[in-house]
Amino acid sequence: MDNYKDDTQGEKKNRNTEDHHNDGYEEFCIMCRRPESQTGKLIHLPGNICVCSRCMQNAFDSFQNSGLQYSDLMNMSAMMPPFDMSGYDQTEESVQSGKNTSDQDEEKDDSDKKDGKEKKKRGPNISMMFMNPMQEQSRYQVKKKSEEEKARERAEFDIRTIPAPHQIKQQLDEYVVGQEKAKKAISVAVYNHYKRVFADNSDGVEIEKSNLLMLGPTGSGKTYLVKTLARLLDVPLAIADATSLTEAGYIGDDIESVISKLLAAADNDVDKAEHGIVFIDEIDKIAKKKNTNSRDVSGESVQQELLKMLEGSKIEVPIGGSSKNMMVPTTTVDTNNILFICGGAFPELDRIIRERLTKNNSIGFGAELYDADSKTEGEVLSRVTIDDLRTFGMIPEFLGRLPVVVTLDSLSEDFLVRILTEPKNAIIKQYQKLFAMDEVKLVFEEDALRVVARRALEKKTGARALRAVLEEFMQDLMYEIPKDPNIGQVTITADYLENKGGPVIALRGV
Ligand code: ADP
Repeated sequence: MDNYKDDTQGEKKNRNTEDHHNDGYEEFCIMCRRPESQTGKLIHLPGNICVCSRCMQNAFDSFQNSGLQYSDLMNMSAMMPPFDMSGYDQTEESVQSGKNTSDQDEEKDDSDKKDGKEKKKRGPNISMMFMNPMQEQSRYQVKKKSEEEKARERAEFDIRTIPAPHQIKQQLDEYVVGQEKAKKAISVAVYNHYKRVFADNSDGVEIEKSNLLMLGPTGSGKTYLVKTLARLLDVPLAIADATSLTEAGYIGDDIESVISKLLAAADNDVDKAEHGIVFIDEIDKIAKKKNTNSRDVSGESVQQELLKMLEGSKIEVPIGGSSKNMMVPTTTVDTNNILFICGGAFPELDRIIRERLTKNNSIGFGAELYDADSKTEGEVLSRVTIDDLRTFGMIPEFLGRLPVVVTLDSLSEDFLVRILTEPKNAIIKQYQKLFAMDEVKLVFEEDALRVVARRALEKKTGARALRAVLEEFMQDLMYEIPKDPNIGQVTITADYLENKGGPVIALRGV
């Protein structure tokens, strides 16, 4: 046990330099992953590793019972390359003399070559049993809070602090242009969601979750809407991509990775994460695969696995990592009060709806007179029903857990011009601000804005294309204009964008 003593001295040194005890995070046992509040006082080992006394005892017991020699342990540790062992094999002398590990490694290599016995003389180091996956402790630890802190947070996050639906919509209006129906539906759903969080269920009336399903073509602002919402409400947000999710055990991310991201967004504060928002994008990509003979590990099975999470259940999630394995500590997060918003472009869904509407048109007295063929994609999508989504490949149980369906309008030229100019942080306003810093006024003619919008539409990536189109020619201007301090105003015309002329330049004081 001499070597264990060596380590405790090294550890004292470590702890003096890196004190993690008052950083607001609870320490946990690296072996059973229980936090200190459950294990009782933890034993600190070098490399900021903590072990509870039960696991330490078990380790010694199994070590004694196995008949292993200390030298066997050394060999075992050599077979574990992914873990950073540097700093563990410091001998007492090196700790005292303050030699750094790399110097020591070089010396060790040399001396090992010279003298085969050298390794043995150093002796094994018991701490090698506890591998250190941690570079930053806090990334892997849940936040520890005092009772007063918890009480203060409860008082801060209250139904009275959640804005009413009309206020949420008003705030969204400042950033998100158009999409009136969607903004209204989201504002109500979010308000009801938080009412549900604070509701007293003692009367037996339990409000159901109002998770959302958002349908809209790519670049129509689904992610932007959710991001803006989370910022306004000041709640943590995780954005996940359904295409990367697979059934547990297959290559890809497990379902828990979604909650893991939310926990990271909440600074590993479980309470905060438990009333956050999760946005799962590209949800249409996990539709049931048609005509497949192999196991559908990234489609229907993922929908099945998401069910419990959407509904509300206690999920064991890895802290600071996306996959569960023995090296990553876990914690339990209750998803009951997490708002889930699923979004997708659902290509071809409009065809399914059109077919249904046309069929209805031709049958019986109650037939609706609806000329589906003459309507735009957005108009047709707004008539979506659960049956259409089932035909698309979403399973009924999954749809049942997303009771609010919101459709976004597809983008037209007019709409894109508004997106360019109206939001609080509109792209045109951003360029104008950049020019204003050089004391140059930047003006866009209406026709020029239309050219930009038309070009963006051609790219078929929605409003996302606007910046790319603008950047193409703004880059030249941003390079040239600061060259001449006499320039006071630049007007971008349609002719300039179509290469038929230059921008109109006005000099200062003219
Ligand atoms: P989606 O998630 O639907 O594919 P995004 O939310 O990523 O699309 O939208 C791309 C970008 O387009 C956003 O970052 C935002 O700047 C802009 N945008 C889209 N729709 C709007 C809108 N209605 N109002 C303001 N900006 C928008």
